[in-house]
Amino acid sequence: MLSNFKIVLVETSHPGNIGGVARAMKNMGVSELCLVSPKVFPSADATSRAAGSDDILSSAIVYGCLQEAIADCQIVLGASARDRTISWPELTARECAEKFATVSEAKARDKIAIVFGRENSGLKNHELDLCHYLLRIPCNSAYSSLNLAAAVQVVCYELFIASGQQRESTIGDKNEGSLASARQMELFYEHLQQTLADIGFLHVDKSQSIMRRLRRIYNRAALDTKEVDILRGILRFSQNHNK
Ligand code: SAH
Repeated sequence: MLSNFKIVLVETSHPGNIGGVARAMKNMGVSELCLVSPKVFPSADATSRAAGSDDILSSAIVYGCLQEAIADCQIVLGASARDRTISWPELTARECAEKFATVSEAKARDKIAIVFGRENSGLKNHELDLCHYLLRIPCNSAYSSLNLAAAVQVVCYELFIASGQQRESTIGDKNEGSLASARQMELFYEHLQQTLADIGFLHVDKSQSIMRRLRRIYNRAALDTKEVDILRGILRFSQNHNK
């Protein structure tokens, strides 16, 4: 699970941010955290902000310089909010994810570091010199600097989505029934047409184009067996009521 990515934080001042980063990473399935000369670490503030992701904090590796932290990486991206006078090849967070987190065996062999800067002054140019790409999170140009943990959250979210790991979620009732078969749908359409004729909504002979539109509506809904049963129950009820 996104195991070839590592998040590198350079000289983070606030330990709470380190905890927030650990939590953001764990939510999105990224687990390798490297800290370059953090001001305070370990720290109770970091642990409390990490909530259930303290395993990421306890396995975080602390380095004395950025070169050491990225030594095993083939690709290094530096996240920066600021425009630079020298131009680096630039990717948005989404482009980065699409380039490096989509499934491919060759890519999975590369180790990729995403480097984040200090809260007050970001990354220095000599640190960006070590990066192959500058990574930017598009946002309001009048206020483009995100909180460190928020920036890590956005980047890891994009990696997670691009890697195709999100499960389709259904809110409320889980749709566990199997999809209705073509035969069940045909019986439903016959029943629907007959009922609409019975209640005087359409004339069987002139119903072709309406039935075609109704089919389109119900086909879009991808009904399951139980749902078709409910609809047919309603049709039966309408027919009986109309007698
Ligand atoms: N004040 C600093 C920004 C610090 S924010 C500056 O002027 O650079 C802390 C870190 O979060 C940044 O170094 C960067 O790595 C990341 N970050 C914040 N906003 C970002 C954005 N819009 N795009 C990419 N990275 C961002």
